[in-house]
Amino acid sequence: MSDRVILWTRVTPQVAKPSVTVHYLIATDPAMAPPGCDTFYVLSPVPHLQSGTDWAVQAEPYRAAIAEALEQTVLPGLREHLTVSFVTTPQDFQDNLLSYKGAAFGLEPLLLQSAWFRPHNRSEDVKNLYMVGASTHPGAGIPGVLMSAKALETVLPDVASVKRRV
Ligand SMILES: Cc1cc2nc3c(=O)[nH]c(=O)nc-3n(C[C@H](O)[C@H](O)[C@H](O)COP(=O)(O)OP(=O)(O)OC[C@H]3O[C@@H](n4cnc5c(N)ncnc54)[C@H](O)[C@@H]3O)c2cc1C
Repeated sequence: MSDRVILWTRVTPQVAKPSVTVHYLIATDPAMAPPGCDTFYVLSPVPHLQSGTDWAVQAEPYRAAIAEALEQTVLPGLREHLTVSFVTTPQDFQDNLLSYKGAAFGLEPLLLQSAWFRPHNRSEDVKNLYMVGASTHPGAGIPGVLMSAKALETVLPDVASVKRRV
């Protein structure tokens, strides 16, 4: 991937006032926590590794800031009852999942990186190279990735023979 592309997200970590999405997992799947316990998943947008953020240093203060923000708003007493806490950072996305610069969401959907401007499913530069998934047409998220697979089917030259083999 070239340095010309813009990756999600370029903002600096907002330690003072983190932006979060909270998911109460056992509301839909009780198996996500031992009996008598709860599990919460918190997603907070942070910059990818080009920002120079040292996550070995920043991860714990950022996690603590989020825990405090949640305690003061929707989860009073959170830290007192916390038994296990697990954090994944852009460094993990790069090291363990090979995400470019640790950008968990790939290409940012700016106007000039959206719709037709997103990398096409058939490469214009390399013959017989086909692309599918979040950073290609039409975009990220599970629905977008599934639509990307459907779009790929329409441009693959030998899709009928592939279908016969599976
Ligand atoms: C924290 C988070 C929360 C999300 N929440 C939602 C949500 O609620 N709803 C929603 O619709 N979407 C959500 N998404 C987005 C969604 O998960 C992604 O858009 C989607 O998973 C992308 O699918 P993909 O197949 O393109 O890539 P991925 O699912 O990233 O799969 C790519 C795979 O390729 C592997 N890989 C990379 N490089 C190599 C290599 N060189 N060789 C071999 N394997 C390699 C990676 O390890 C990875 O397993 C979320 C994403 C994140 C990060």
